[in-house]
Amino acid sequence: MGGVDICDQQMECYRTWFKTRKWAWKVILHFIDLAAVNSWFQYKRVVVAKKILKRNHKDLLQFKLEIAEALAVIPSVNKKIVSDEETDGDVEDSTSTVKRSKYHNAPAKKQCTNQRYDVYNHFPQCDDLSRPRMCRYENCKSTSKTRCEKCDVYLCLSKTNNCFKNFHCKKV
Ligand SMILES: [Zn+2]
Ligand SMILES: [Zn+2]
Repeated sequence: MGGVDICDQQMECYRTWFKTRKWAWKVILHFIDLAAVNSWFQYKRVVVAKKILKRNHKDLLQFKLEIAEALAVIPSVNKKIVSDEETDGDVEDSTSTVKRSKYHNAPAKKQCTNQRYDVYNHFPQCDDLSRPRMCRYENCKSTSKTRCEKCDVYLCLSKTNNCFKNFHCKKV
């Protein structure tokens, strides 16, 4: 502590802080900050090895913000989607089921750009819908019943049309 080495210096830059008298909280926050800074050093090592231009490197603040963003958006992997027709007359477990309206389209607000391109945990899920939904890939006018579980958006996934892949790949 106190900026005695490079790691310590970086930790002092964007230290997580809130007012508390409990020493345990301070210790926990210290280790969270330490893990974030160590991960950032690891990230720097990788981007240097990949010869990515320095101006495209994320600074520590940006890196920590992205960690926070990724942790704040938890994928709804275990949730089962049912349409209105299916739930009629059935008793559904409210903890495991998300009921959606007939014309519901996946919410765009939940999705952030970083999550979309994080190349992690994006699994297609074929929903049993009466009517397919509009594909959310830019410029695609097609419809689909395949949904990305993490992003919660409908995307084409067929022999001829792979919007699912295109949606998750950054355009260079
Ligand atoms: Zn996705
Ligand atoms: Zn599409």
